[in-house]
Amino acid sequence: MTENKTEQDVPSATPSKGALGEFPPWLRRPWGSGALFESTRNVVQGYRVHTVCQSARCPNQGDCWQRRTATFMILGNVCTRNCLFCSVRSGNPARNVDLEEPLRVAEAVRALSIRHAVITSVTRDDLHDGGAQQFLNTIRAIREINPHTTVEVLTPDFKGDVNAVRTVAEAYPEVFGHNIETVERLHAVLRRNGRLYEKSLSLLRFVSGFSDKIIVKSALMLGHGETRDEIVKTLQDLREVGCQVVAMGQYLRPTKSQRAVQRYITPDEFQELEQIAYSMGFLFVTAGPFVRSSYRAEEPISMLKEKRFGSVAR
Ligand code: SF4
Repeated sequence: MTENKTEQDVPSATPSKGALGEFPPWLRRPWGSGALFESTRNVVQGYRVHTVCQSARCPNQGDCWQRRTATFMILGNVCTRNCLFCSVRSGNPARNVDLEEPLRVAEAVRALSIRHAVITSVTRDDLHDGGAQQFLNTIRAIREINPHTTVEVLTPDFKGDVNAVRTVAEAYPEVFGHNIETVERLHAVLRRNGRLYEKSLSLLRFVSGFSDKIIVKSALMLGHGETRDEIVKTLQDLREVGCQVVAMGQYLRPTKSQRAVQRYITPDEFQELEQIAYSMGFLFVTAGPFVRSSYRAEEPISMLKEKRFGSVAR
């Protein structure tokens, strides 16, 4: 196994500043501490579950963990891809799947009393189904012991395998998220594969057509050198495939091993992008320096469920 990244099991002080020097004032925020933060850490460690909060060195960890919420990362903590912006460890998991993981995640959700559970995963190109069955098993396990908890998945692209996507969709998560990550031009650079943009759109199109009971969501991180026109085009593409919820945040370099930030987007620019997205017909938009697809992910749920979908079939 080759591993060229280092997982951080504890929050770092701050993400690396990179070539742009000091953070602008709107990007300074304290890390978490205190009893609630520690109790979240104890649950995560006690149930031996992975979180993207730690593995991706998310800057919101203090805020989220003090609110006793986290985003669980299933299928282990080693990713078969190696995107330039991501600090999750890269390597070959050798088809290993921990069959007890879904239950441990479900128990951690219960221990934290999470009302809206967000489940993501590393990309597992070594598995024939990309890990779709593990998503399904995790959704079922969460519902089994947390009957009042809604579930949001944030999946990889499953290499475009429609059967894998269908396997997850058939569990009817309340929200099916898949991040487009960046604008089309930059996929070739940041993800080393320009075709992944279209693959992501195809996945979102499929889920949109699968059921109107599932809220379809995507997200992109800004600050990689994309132009305003490219961002607008990406939002248009997401709307065209039926995406209803979109999140936009500032890319922050997790460590010096990842690509440097090219530009800091100002809060005013984020506000303008939010308005543009709403004008295109998105039902819920979050845009801001610390926005991540899983950040305060529970907020659109109750509103959208009542507004558009009535009770969600399972
Ligand atoms: S935004 Fe998501 S990944 Fe980041 S700390 Fe919060 S729950 Fe974890």
